[in-house]
Amino acid sequence: MALRFDDFLSVFYAVATAMLLALAAGCGRDQTALPPVDGKPRVVATISIIGDWVKIVGGDEVALQTFVGPDGDPHEYGPVPSDNITLAKADVLFENGLGLESWLDKLYQSSQAKAARVVITQGIEVRHVAESEGMPPRGKDTGRDDPHAWQNVQNAMVMVGNIRAALVKADPAHAAGYQARAEAYLQQLAALDAWVQDQINTLPKQRRKLVTSHDAFGYFGGRYGVDISRSALESVTTEASDPSAKQIVDVVRQIEAAGVPVIFLENIQNPQLMAQIATEAGVKVGPPLYSDALGQPGTAGDTYIKMIQYNVRTLIKALGQ
Ligand code: ZN
Repeated sequence: MALRFDDFLSVFYAVATAMLLALAAGCGRDQTALPPVDGKPRVVATISIIGDWVKIVGGDEVALQTFVGPDGDPHEYGPVPSDNITLAKADVLFENGLGLESWLDKLYQSSQAKAARVVITQGIEVRHVAESEGMPPRGKDTGRDDPHAWQNVQNAMVMVGNIRAALVKADPAHAAGYQARAEAYLQQLAALDAWVQDQINTLPKQRRKLVTSHDAFGYFGGRYGVDISRSALESVTTEASDPSAKQIVDVVRQIEAAGVPVIFLENIQNPQLMAQIATEAGVKVGPPLYSDALGQPGTAGDTYIKMIQYNVRTLIKALGQ
């Protein structure tokens, strides 16, 4: 029986982990038995947005590593062997869940991790989306969970609360610090949530429409009253295969029907096809929005709060004209 590629990857990671652990042991140290860094809990965040929150709530009291970095696409992430080592040693693993990190279960197993898994979207109201409308369904067309919960700032507050609770549980000696930093940050998030709504309210109702290349902004639209055009753009821009001419024509028609002046890129995707489609639909391509990842350090979206502010300012500027 032929090994599937996924199976091959699992074996590869397991072997790579064993070899790296053996190397470490050869240096006279047993990595798995090392105490936490300077007594700090070792925590891992799957994506940059979660990493930002853990850094804020954890402060200097945790040793944090993040798997999918700035501008990285969490849907398409390919773990590297060092991720096995990181996870094997971790005490707590913070993940979004809702199907975002499809690669994580296998990584967790192959690294023989013992970290407590914390799904930080616990307690939010989960949004469900149908498989790509207007496109042939891929597999079961029963709808799936929308993982992009962070685009609603109120969800972010729930998620930060879950991070706080998990850190307090993992490291009760430093509970006061986790509580205080989370409290201060939650106040900033409450102010951000109100600010976003105020900004969107400045747009005429018929302008509150957003077309992007993948369906990342459903929670944003639901919370702040922006109509998200679920176009077939997602299908033609996120799959590896070249879209057919008919698919592109369908997308162009949908954009024309939506009556928007602009479509938006995202920081995690390739802009070329979007530019072509926009030209054919006679609309502009807006600047990239931050969808599933923070920007690189030093950019306008290098923290969660800055990313939301940047997205909203960009929308208002492009749609308000
Ligand atoms: Zn996404």
